[in-house]
Amino acid sequence: MLVVRNLQVRYGRSVAALHGVDLQVAADSVLAVLGSNGAGKSTLLRTISGTLRLHRGSVVAGQVEFAGKRIDRLDPAEIVRLGVVGVPEGRQVFARMSVEENLRAGGIGARTAEARTAARARVHELFPVLAERAKQRAGLLSGGEQQMLAIGRALMSAPKLLLLDEPSLGLAPKIVDRIGEIIREIHAQGTAVVLVEQNAVMALRVADHAVVLETGRTALSGTAADLSASDDVQRLYLGGH
Ligand code: ATP
Repeated sequence: MLVVRNLQVRYGRSVAALHGVDLQVAADSVLAVLGSNGAGKSTLLRTISGTLRLHRGSVVAGQVEFAGKRIDRLDPAEIVRLGVVGVPEGRQVFARMSVEENLRAGGIGARTAEARTAARARVHELFPVLAERAKQRAGLLSGGEQQMLAIGRALMSAPKLLLLDEPSLGLAPKIVDRIGEIIREIHAQGTAVVLVEQNAVMALRVADHAVVLETGRTALSGTAADLSASDDVQRLYLGGH
């Protein structure tokens, strides 16, 4: 469904963030992208979603294909219309708007009113708290609830592929587990997911496949089970020896 070929990204002349990344995401799967700070994980997601263009001086080479179509030259809004929707790091909900208004903003791209209603029902079923707090200002939600709202807002346009950038960041372990379960549910309902995570334990539990980025290159890739068993991943990301 998503194919990334020899992706190279620079920020201006001096910073090379990706040096030739290859990966694939099957229609019915969750891919975890692991790697330490600065490995290029967010850059990879920004390139897929098209938002890298918003960073002045960024230069991209290589290809990104979604459902057989090149998307690496498209605007972020066109990429959303094709069904690829990102949830950026740090949640970024509209703090002064209500929960309901945040969801409505995510549904603007829905084709019909029925599609919007169906998407909202799905979001409320996954996250009952968002129905309970519909009128509350989003900025007053807890960190976990804001992450749920950010994911819910992305689901309002019924994506085929959801890109999640560190959804566990700054959340308590129990909430991280809940977010992991929700990602599985979203996947079970037919949405593919790319999950960028520093929390390798959670990511490998949730994902089918995984890649490890190191300084802008794919250092390892395989099934989540294979990577969980790998000595390097155990030592570097899972706290093993
Ligand atoms: P983190 O987990 O810390 O967010 P990451 O794996 O997501 O790390 P990126 O944020 O993609 O890594 O960064 C990859 C490299 O690109 C780093 O060297 C970083 O300093 C650089 N970089 C990221 N964004 C910019 C930017 N807007 N301008 C210049 N350099 C950038």
